[in-house]
Amino acid sequence: MHVKNRRVALVAGVVALFAVGGFVLGPTPLRVPVGAAVGATAPTGGTADGSWQDAGPGTSPGSPPANPARTPGPVRSTDGGTAPGGTATGPAVPGATVPGSLPPVVDHGPRTGRKVALTFDADMTDAMRRQLRGPNPPSYANLAIVDLLERQGVPATFFLTGKWVEEYPQLTRRLAANPRFELANHSYGHDAFTPDCYHLKPLPRREMTADVARTFDTITPYGGRQTRYFRFPGLCHDRTALTELAPLGLTVVDGDVVSGDPFARYWQPIVRAVLSQVRPGSVIVLHVTEANAPMTDEALPHILAGLAERGLEPAPLSEVLGGTAPGASPS
Ligand SMILES: [Zn+2]
Repeated sequence: MHVKNRRVALVAGVVALFAVGGFVLGPTPLRVPVGAAVGATAPTGGTADGSWQDAGPGTSPGSPPANPARTPGPVRSTDGGTAPGGTATGPAVPGATVPGSLPPVVDHGPRTGRKVALTFDADMTDAMRRQLRGPNPPSYANLAIVDLLERQGVPATFFLTGKWVEEYPQLTRRLAANPRFELANHSYGHDAFTPDCYHLKPLPRREMTADVARTFDTITPYGGRQTRYFRFPGLCHDRTALTELAPLGLTVVDGDVVSGDPFARYWQPIVRAVLSQVRPGSVIVLHVTEANAPMTDEALPHILAGLAERGLEPAPLSEVLGGTAPGASPS
């Protein structure tokens, strides 16, 4: 198993520049030997998982929600039968690993068959929250994406930050209620888990474990297809971060197809980035944060058509990673 910390750190800065400009890099494949349980393909162009705005200090005010797209109110479990987040580590939960072992880092599933995973990150920083409480609140929930996936019956996996779930409880409920959708963890407030991860606010090491555990606790009551998959903000991680998450019994999921959709101005480069890189077993990184990834819903129909032309079939992440060894630990 391959941990890609240094590479991610190295490419991050360069890629961020391209991503912000809507420019898409070509694939730069770095293959692991065939048969490796967990892939290590480079997160090629546009690694910037950058659907945040500025991540400056500050806390979100406690004012009532101002965004009409949001539905405030208490969070209710949709099935009432889900275990608390801290205990959702049984073998039946996709991505669950032995607590205490260093989490495996996965880029993609086996390169056989035709399944690929569409994954959508739902970022929410304190700065984004302030925007939501401003005079002209943006939407960080791209309903057009969800509408399209539902209309066409397309499976997908959503990496949710805890703060996004708190802002969009009704949409979270809708995602959880769809049997084709899986829910995963993208940290609580999209802080950086490494000292230098774009311009994200660094999360102190001593807070990392609690941050991710709190996010599971926030997502789990919604029920549906819960997982123990976790994606680092900005895909930034190092051994320290992985060590801090070891108690949580999870699998880290990066992705081998980075769409470059944050801050895109045109949909065509997103489509090209995805379709030029995608292969059987691919994990495609997209964003559902509308205002910070405004062209993703425009690109999605073309991506779906292109996948179909290539004989590739979207599937829940757990099914795409099905052949991997979730209990393994990286060396
Ligand atoms: Zn993100």
